[in-house]
Amino acid sequence: MTKIIQAVRGMKDILPDEAERWEAFESLVRDWLRGYGYRPMRMPLVEPTPLFKRAIGEVTDIVEKEMYTFGDAEESLTLRPEGTASCVRAVLEHNLLYDGPKRLWYMGPMFRRERPQKGRYRQFYQVGVEALGFAEPAMDAELILMGQRLWDDLDIHGVKLELNSLGSLEERARHRVDLVAYLEKHQDRLDEDSRRRLGSNPLRILDTKNPHMQELVEGAPRLTDYLGDASLAHFESVRQLLSDAGIPHRVNPRLVRGLDYYNRTVFEWVTDRLGAQGTICAGGRYDGLFEQLGGKPQPAAGFALGVERVLALWDEAQSAAFIESPDLYVVHDGEGAGRVAFSVAEELRDGGFAVQLHAGGGNFKAQMKRADGSGAKLALIVGEDEVRVDAVTVKPLRESRPQLRVARNELALHIADYLFGDEDEHDGNL
Ligand code: ATP
Ligand code: MG
Repeated sequence: MTKIIQAVRGMKDILPDEAERWEAFESLVRDWLRGYGYRPMRMPLVEPTPLFKRAIGEVTDIVEKEMYTFGDAEESLTLRPEGTASCVRAVLEHNLLYDGPKRLWYMGPMFRRERPQKGRYRQFYQVGVEALGFAEPAMDAELILMGQRLWDDLDIHGVKLELNSLGSLEERARHRVDLVAYLEKHQDRLDEDSRRRLGSNPLRILDTKNPHMQELVEGAPRLTDYLGDASLAHFESVRQLLSDAGIPHRVNPRLVRGLDYYNRTVFEWVTDRLGAQGTICAGGRYDGLFEQLGGKPQPAAGFALGVERVLALWDEAQSAAFIESPDLYVVHDGEGAGRVAFSVAEELRDGGFAVQLHAGGGNFKAQMKRADGSGAKLALIVGEDEVRVDAVTVKPLRESRPQLRVARNELALHIADYLFGDEDEHDGNL
C-alpha cells in the first residue's frame, strides 16, 4: 500500500471543531471592525517578489530567508508573507485614497518559511488593520485601543502593551552612526547574523532573539534619546490618549519590529501564556511606505494580529457559546419514510431552520445517537407509522420533555414555538 501524503511541514489543517471556533472568531472580528468604521479588502495571495523586497526591506529575516518565492513564466512571484505591502500596493494601484483617507482590513493566510513550532507556522493567518492617509497621533492611539477592545470582547486577560517610537528617518540615521560605533567596538560579541547586519541594518540587531546578546543590546545607544521635538510630541500625545483611556503600557526602547517600513509609533501586545511566541498583535506607523512603493507620500498606520495565537488564548468554553448546532436532526426508517423525510427536511429549511437529514442508514437507535451527537435541539422521527398519518414525531433532545406526534402541516409552527416561543406557552403542547 502506498503511504498517504501529508500536509506540508508547518502548514496545518483546521478541522471542523477548530474551524467552527475560527468562524465564531471571524464573526466577532467583523463586528469589532465595523464598530471602528473599517471596510474589508481581499488581496491576492501571490504578489510580484519586488513588492516585498521594497516594502519589507532586503535585510530582514522575512526577505532574506523566509519567503516562498518561485519563478513564473514572466516574473518572480512570492506567496505573501504579510498583508500591509499588498494592501498598500492595491490602494496605490486603484487610487483608493483619491477622495480621502481610508480605514481598511483583511484576513487571510500568510506564508513564511520559519522553523515550525507551537504558535509559529509556515502558513498562518492574520487579521490586518490599516488606517491609510491619517497622520494624527489619535489614529495610533485608536488602533491600540481597538486591540484592547478585542481582548475585552474575547474575555482574554493579561495581554500587555509594549510601545516605542522609532522617530523619523533622519533621527534613525543619527542614532545609527552611534549604534554602529558601539557595536563595532563589541564585534567579538556579535553573532553571525548580527555581524552581517552591522553594515546593512544595525537597528535590527536590537531585535535579536539570541540570549547571548541581550546584555550587549541592553547597553546600546537608545533610539529614544535621538528623537526630535516633533517625534517626541507625537509619541507623548499617543501616550496621553492611552492613559486617558486607562490603557497601561510599557515603553520598551528595544522594540524595533521586524519590518523596515515602520516609523514613529510601534507597538506589540504580548502575553506570557504562549511561551516564546508571546506576541499576539503588532503594528505601528509607516508614513514612508507609500513613497517607497512609488506612490505619493501618505501617512499610515496599522497592525496585524496572529489568529492562531489569539485563538490559543480564547477560552474553549467561551468560544463554544458562539458555535451553533443544527436546530433539527431528521431520522427515518424505510424507503417511503426516506422520501418523506427528504422533503420534510427541505420544507423546514424553507422555513429557515438548520436541518441535518440522517444519511448512511442504520436503525432508529443508531440514528438517534447521531441526532444526539449533532447538537440539534430536536430530533424529527419519520417512520412508517408517521408516513401513514402524514405526521412527524418531534422529540426534544436537550430537555426531558415528552415526544409528540405533530401533523405535517403544523410542523414548522410547532417547531418555531418550541425553539423561540415563550417557555410556558409550549409547556405541554410539545
Ligand atoms: P515574531 O516576533 O513572533 O516572529 P513578527 O514580528 O515576525 O512575529 P509580524 O510580522 O509583526 O510578526 O506579524 C504580526 C503577528 O502575526 C505576530 O505578532 C504574530 O502574532 C503573528 N505571526 C507572525 N509570524 C507568525 C508565524 N510564523 N506563525 C504564527 N503567527 C505568526
Ligand atoms: Mg517573525
